[in-house]
Amino acid sequence: MKTYRDLSPSPRTIMTPGPVEVDPRVLRAMSFSILGQFDPEFTDIMNETMDMIRVLFQTNNHWAFSVDGTSRSGIEAVLTSLIEPGDRVLVPIYGRFGHLLVEIAERCGADISTMEQEWGQVFDPEQVVKRIRQERPDIVAIVHGETSTGRMQPLKEIGKACRELDVLLVVDAVATVGGTKVATDEWMLDAVIGGTQKCLSVPAGMAPVTYNERAEAKILKRKRIERGLRDPQTETGWSGKGIQSNYLDLSQLQDYWSPVRLNHHTEATSMLYALREGLRLVLEEGLEQRFARHLEHEAALVAGIRAMGLTLFGDPDCKMPMVTCVNIPDGVDGESVRAMLLHEFGIEIASSFGALKGKIWRIGTMGYSCNKKNVLHLLGALEAALLRHRVPVHIGAASQAALDVYRRKANTYE
Ligand SMILES: *Cc1c(COP(=O)(O)O)cnc(C)c1O
Repeated sequence: MKTYRDLSPSPRTIMTPGPVEVDPRVLRAMSFSILGQFDPEFTDIMNETMDMIRVLFQTNNHWAFSVDGTSRSGIEAVLTSLIEPGDRVLVPIYGRFGHLLVEIAERCGADISTMEQEWGQVFDPEQVVKRIRQERPDIVAIVHGETSTGRMQPLKEIGKACRELDVLLVVDAVATVGGTKVATDEWMLDAVIGGTQKCLSVPAGMAPVTYNERAEAKILKRKRIERGLRDPQTETGWSGKGIQSNYLDLSQLQDYWSPVRLNHHTEATSMLYALREGLRLVLEEGLEQRFARHLEHEAALVAGIRAMGLTLFGDPDCKMPMVTCVNIPDGVDGESVRAMLLHEFGIEIASSFGALKGKIWRIGTMGYSCNKKNVLHLLGALEAALLRHRVPVHIGAASQAALDVYRRKANTYE
């Protein structure tokens, strides 16, 4: 019989826009004993997780829980539960994940209209507001941080306009939540989806979501109760309308996350332990401190990349702090440099999609991966790899520039 070696993944320095390195405290939390999902000890853990998700999204929404599945499952749960066939959905697209919103909304039977911005830019919010006023869609779905291009869309004005015009605003904040401000209530976002394997530094496999009463009202209009769980005295039959998915039906999921605890799927026990510990780490650090940490390491990385003689991709005014896109120098095989970083230095950075394929590298500084050791390690390694690829970089400049940024912060001079 064939035997298989012990599993022993190499310890990597992961500097991609997800998945990123996981805090050892989260990994430890995943190894604890399983509890039954209706065990009061476990439902306490569920409730605590809801509380912490509210803090994460800066919201007082009642509904704040996790959907089992990667972030895409959270996006799909929100869109499938909100969109009725024929609903008019406006999607402003400025990168790959905007197209994902269209793809999912299409499958929900939405009547979709899109507006597109060149990759590397975001929309002037006024431009989007104007379209919303003209079209009066039922729903606007937009990405907050486009990991594909490293850009971040300002949402405040769009949120205000949607509220005024009674349009529901759905936001993919998968890549930004926990790394930069995502002010659900202040910006008047009706439903927001986050991610675990990005700035939360929890493995992929859950999607924290939150939504307000406006979104809930629409979802409840479409509610059905599962056949086996219905009270035959009070429940009527299925009209054939309603939310198309069982697994991703937020009206059923919210019953499961409420004191009713109406049975739905089996909660992903170990993943919930992981998410709870990841959220506890966020709260311990403090949101503001965490955002500042992401900015500090971004500044050091960017200073290093520039000092080396490389250039950054995209409009600097709307750059995401946690993703840095670097133009691959002319004539250089970007994949060969990436392979050298991985095999010689144990560092992973990301390539890119679509029109940017082969043109840029994307470097993530997210969550637990966002630290001084990683930034300095990467800059040294990238310099060495580029020299091996005969790129005339300014030798030694990158690490010095990054150290200058760190030194300024620490206020120490030698
Ligand atoms: C990573 C990412 C997703 C998809 O997340 P999965 O966890 O891979 O399903 C969606 N939107 C954005 C902006 C992302 O960065």
